[in-house]
Amino acid sequence: MAEPMSELRLDPFTRRWVVTGKRHVLPDVHDYGDACPFCPGNERMTPPAIRESRDPTGAWTARVFHDRAPLFRVEGDADRRAEGMFDLMNPIGAHEIVVETPAHGKTLTQLSDSQTANVLELFRDRILDLKKDRRLRYVSVFKHQHPPSPALAGHAHSQVLGSPVLPYILEIELRWSREHFRKHERCLHCDALEQELSQGTRLVDRTEDFVAFCPFGSRWSYELWIVPARHASSFENDMAAPGRTLALAPFLKSCLHRVESISPSVHMVIHTEPNLQAWKPAEDWWKFVPEDYHWHIEIQPDVEGRRMYLGPEGFHFNPIPAEQAAVVLRALDPELEPIPET
Ligand SMILES: [Zn+2]
Ligand SMILES: [Zn+2]
Ligand SMILES: [Zn+2]
Repeated sequence: MAEPMSELRLDPFTRRWVVTGKRHVLPDVHDYGDACPFCPGNERMTPPAIRESRDPTGAWTARVFHDRAPLFRVEGDADRRAEGMFDLMNPIGAHEIVVETPAHGKTLTQLSDSQTANVLELFRDRILDLKKDRRLRYVSVFKHQHPPSPALAGHAHSQVLGSPVLPYILEIELRWSREHFRKHERCLHCDALEQELSQGTRLVDRTEDFVAFCPFGSRWSYELWIVPARHASSFENDMAAPGRTLALAPFLKSCLHRVESISPSVHMVIHTEPNLQAWKPAEDWWKFVPEDYHWHIEIQPDVEGRRMYLGPEGFHFNPIPAEQAAVVLRALDPELEPIPET
């Protein structure tokens, strides 16, 4: 008997969406044992590429393909439905892997600026492409980086999730950004940025274009955020301006490098505006998002026992206040190892 398809269920008590049920494994992918599927020469071990960037010799420098056990799938339709008082739908969408370099064992911080800019370009491309699908309300781009190992985890990569619902944290961020805007007619992030710049105690680094600081209410020890200095709600549209990815690349690498010095296990996520073109029940749902939301990157090191800090009672416990974390992160030498162009 065929396995039942996984479902997207809404927990009505917290209004969180949960993908439940067995993930479908793509039929044309086999297990190749210990070989790294992300290394050049092993492309047959992954689903076919959706996008590739290539160097002048024709060799790929970054590749995007579907995850072999996707959380969200393109086929079918959302089929929003009820089961008594409960809401559910099909987990339609996309789940893609971005391999950021052909070099095994290198992290994003070890790539050249132009290669990092290239990866940011690919993120932008995937977000814009998936947002053409009006069934999808959000596209997440994130990275779970673990200490280098001979296996897959050691190969720099990120994940892209296109989903018919908003991730919980985005839902919350959008709600409070809108609330702040409604009261003050100003962007919450722009206001916070102004205060961070004037107080300075939580600032870690800044350029003309970007600011990095430890947020006042840091949930994780040594959490570091990168925020564009000028208001912009959409990462993908902001990065379209000439030279923008090349401006962000060295800044992102140096921020990641500081956090990697605390722990080689790092979680990174880009928070950008939802898909404003998506189908939604009311046209004015996200009317003020371009003014009230501000894209940013959150970087969180997985310090020892980090998971213990979130108790089952739902509070975050962070033993290191943001001001103290900022002192440590500021002092870390941001100089990167010179790596030749790949
Ligand atoms: Zn590899
Ligand atoms: Zn703003
Ligand atoms: Zn955020």
